[in-house]
Amino acid sequence: MNIRKPFIAGNWKMYKTCAESVETATKLAGLVSGVTNVDIMIAPSFIALALVYEAVKESSVMVGAQNIFWEKEGAFTGEISPQMAASAGCRYVIIGHSERRQYFSETDLSVNKKIRAAINNNLTPVFCIGETEKERDADNTFNILDKQIKMGLEGFSPDNVQSVILAYEPVWAIGTGKTASSGQAQEVHKFIRDLIENLFGKKIAGSARILYGGSVKPENIKELMSMPDVDGALVGGASLNAEKFAEIVKFK
Ligand code: PEP
Repeated sequence: MNIRKPFIAGNWKMYKTCAESVETATKLAGLVSGVTNVDIMIAPSFIALALVYEAVKESSVMVGAQNIFWEKEGAFTGEISPQMAASAGCRYVIIGHSERRQYFSETDLSVNKKIRAAINNNLTPVFCIGETEKERDADNTFNILDKQIKMGLEGFSPDNVQSVILAYEPVWAIGTGKTASSGQAQEVHKFIRDLIENLFGKKIAGSARILYGGSVKPENIKELMSMPDVDGALVGGASLNAEKFAEIVKFK
């Protein structure tokens, strides 16, 4: 039996003004009212975080940031600290998204520092990993994931890792409309869980939530969620629409 509570998260990326963010979040909160069997999180842009939090704080929708810097404060123009994100109402933070790795030079080392900073400030990290199409075609998927996970979680104790949520996001499936098949997702999720077990023990591996991300839509969520090691989804494009995202949340 799967004892892990499903977690469905929406990554709004660099979309929506403040007013649009509040409008979508408010609509979503209404649509998912009464849903208690799934943890629901949305990650609007930094600028809309506090407003969105105010709009959904009485509902079951939780708020996350799309990124953080690891320092508490200082001369780091343009950055946001974990404390600042928490003060805006965030309980979660997405770390190491492939778009940040690809366009903003994030490395496994910076990802490691950010995960640590999140944990130290009571933010739950949603730690993203995934291979590119080229890496998959070269049969390197498992090597890449092994490296990303070992480096991202290097120096962590089982206690530290307890709260970490992993998100397997094959880069070739993000925003492309190509979804990994449920079999492909399950194969990788099982690999990730086994690796977590080797590194941090059976208990942590058994309770770790591993999300799938990559062109998740109302049409494919049910099939993905039927896999024993798929515990939820990180949704980009389809999360921008409150009705579609609510349908994903209510996949059962
Ligand atoms: C994402 O941004 O994490 C993502 C999976 O995007 P999409 O659902 O649009 O593929």
